[in-house]
Amino acid sequence: MEDFILFGQPKIGEDEINEVIDSLRKGWLGTGPKSKRFEQDFAKYKNSKFSLALNSCTAGLHLSCLSLELKPGDEVITTAMTFCATVNTIIHAGGRPVLVDIDPLTWNIDHNKLEKKITSKTKAIIPVHFAGRACDMDVIMSISEKYNLKVIEDCAHAIETIYKGKKAGAIGDMGVFSFYATKNLAVGEGGMIISDNESLISRLKISALHGMSKDAWSRFSDDGYKHYKVEMAGFKYNMPDIQASIGIHQLKKIDKFALKRERIWNLYMQEFKNLPISLPCKIESNTTHAFHLFNICLDQNKTHIKRDVFLNKMNYNKIGVGVHYESIPSHPYYKRKFNWDCKDYPNAFKFGNETVSIPISPKLTDNELDKIISVTKSILSGK
Ligand SMILES: *Cc1c(COP(=O)(O)O)cnc(C)c1O
Repeated sequence: MEDFILFGQPKIGEDEINEVIDSLRKGWLGTGPKSKRFEQDFAKYKNSKFSLALNSCTAGLHLSCLSLELKPGDEVITTAMTFCATVNTIIHAGGRPVLVDIDPLTWNIDHNKLEKKITSKTKAIIPVHFAGRACDMDVIMSISEKYNLKVIEDCAHAIETIYKGKKAGAIGDMGVFSFYATKNLAVGEGGMIISDNESLISRLKISALHGMSKDAWSRFSDDGYKHYKVEMAGFKYNMPDIQASIGIHQLKKIDKFALKRERIWNLYMQEFKNLPISLPCKIESNTTHAFHLFNICLDQNKTHIKRDVFLNKMNYNKIGVGVHYESIPSHPYYKRKFNWDCKDYPNAFKFGNETVSIPISPKLTDNELDKIISVTKSILSGK
């Protein structure tokens, strides 16, 4: 596997390693001072007032959806093109997910089709800034205000994303981030919720740690033993300091990584422009893209090679690739449970059948980039 170019490789440096060793030496492995510091640093980076570090983005989406206090039959709208966690957490919170198709060019939720999906049961919208491209938040926020809906931004791809001067995640009521191993800020497993609503974040913080009373968070201190009281049946979603140790240093480097991701993006756009494939559309003015995924689309009528054959050929050439994602309605569980038909979400379905994500990690060397480009070109030109 040595010369295999892994997909979505994190770039971990000595700072992260030393910080983890420091935690190990101090013997504080659980949630503590470093998680707190990472929370504060992240909130500052996002221009958000409050934040809560968690052990995954899925945990964050779950808690955010629970805060909607959904009743049976209540609906939450999201995109047909996202990771399954966005939809699963709506279900776990007792809601009914309602999907909107994507825009065929931006691959984000088609905001023009959003309003038609709103019913008297709709409680919230979860836009996903797909691949790191900002959704049109002006439109989404004005619809949410008109119908009195909450907005939870799924920012798993959107750490660096900015929309008209506003940081992604700090526009809706809550923003939820992922620090999974392949994400732009990687700690292994981790997540964060940000919000300007203090009482919301403090309630979620209690839910995230067994439902134990606030004091329990600082229970092990030197100013005397504190008993905890359980105030609700909570979850076990807190971020350990080992993870936060990595996060603190990854965050410091995020802007430097972003420059490298942008350089790779521009290189691919230039090198692939004459290939018979679809590339990401132009980045909207007045927005900053997070360059989390570089998706290409293989329309079989134009490329004469099936998407899955291309995936295998890339792997055979020792290049890791991904599929982000097959559309949500194409998974058997949702089909059975909600009677969804792929044909009702044609743009997401087509994209899901044609897309390939090629590596865009800041860890890639120039040699690796040359190889990715030449192998991609030679497969697609039939050589
Ligand atoms: C990765 C991802 C998640 C889940 O993140 P975890 O931290 O792995 O729980 C949710 N939504 C989207 C769009 C993602 O890409």
